[in-house]
Amino acid sequence: MRFPFSLTRSMALYMLRKKISGQKKFPLVLMLEPLHSCNLHCSGCGRIREYADTINKHLTVAECLNSVTECDSPIVSLCGGEPLLYPEIVELVDRILRLGKHIYLCTNGQFLENRLSDFIQLSYKNRRTKRKMFWNVHLDGSESLHDAIVEKPGAFVKAVNGITAAKKAGFYVYTNTTLYKKTEIAELTDLARQLEQIGIDGMMLAPGYGYESVSAESFFLTREETYEKFKSVRKLLGQFRMTATPIYLDFLCGERKLPCAAWANPTRNIKGWKSPCYLVTDRHYATYRDFIELTDWSRIGHGNDPRCEHCMMHCGFEPAAVLFGNRLRDLIRLAIWQIS
Ligand code: SF4
Ligand code: SF4
Repeated sequence: MRFPFSLTRSMALYMLRKKISGQKKFPLVLMLEPLHSCNLHCSGCGRIREYADTINKHLTVAECLNSVTECDSPIVSLCGGEPLLYPEIVELVDRILRLGKHIYLCTNGQFLENRLSDFIQLSYKNRRTKRKMFWNVHLDGSESLHDAIVEKPGAFVKAVNGITAAKKAGFYVYTNTTLYKKTEIAELTDLARQLEQIGIDGMMLAPGYGYESVSAESFFLTREETYEKFKSVRKLLGQFRMTATPIYLDFLCGERKLPCAAWANPTRNIKGWKSPCYLVTDRHYATYRDFIELTDWSRIGHGNDPRCEHCMMHCGFEPAAVLFGNRLRDLIRLAIWQIS
């Protein structure tokens, strides 16, 4: 199975409940950023630039849990910054799992091997740890490309050692790779092969997008370049365990249009609820309710906001692929993809 059965079941039941209730806009994944500080300084990172003035501040555990309850999505993605630098990360994971949520713990992998024993300990106390928490490790390509992008020699090897240790310890482990102009897809097949041998559960590929705080035209993909890259991805990486749904992949290849559904992946951080989306910022709201009700959703997406023109990112369009791909043919493709 592409994703564990418990996650698929929770998501399917949640979406069914929302459909029956007639609610139009609801969250699928909460992007929770307890802190923005990080041990790396990646070329493509918007967070450490946009939040430089609050980089040393943290949300408290209570603030994080309030946000999880307020938003009430079935999945919480703990990101940042580097979440393993958050002093109460183990307690936070434990308490979010006890709220019945699934967790993607996004990390650059540099502390994964060293901190793993804390999560193994947690798994003795909270049996949901290995069933409902998934490591999501950032790897931007082969060793030389990754180390150049994160601007740290040795970072790739450290992350791969962490992934190997986490798999050996019985955790779910996914990887997360951003594609930039200089990413060679043929080179990514070597990475996919290496990760497959380690036994990772899936590989997420995202098109690099030059949003406000990191705009650099020579670095990020235009929409047309994204189409070309992902057509090669489909051809060369199709046999590996990619986590992009077939509908989202159609969109990335330019074969299908989707509206932006950024409201389904809200971001909460030290400044509040980031509006309109994970990538661009007009303002931060104090509550989830204000975020969802006061953001003008008609103004985002392709053709509506020039900042969105080249964006094809997960945070806007992966939920749209799930929520709006509801023709029978799409549902059958999705089901076959999930069990393959
Ligand atoms: S590891 Fe992540 S949070 Fe840290 S600098 Fe790189 S992209 Fe930013
Ligand atoms: S298209 Fe959606 S996700 Fe992308 S920048 Fe615009 S609002 Fe954000």
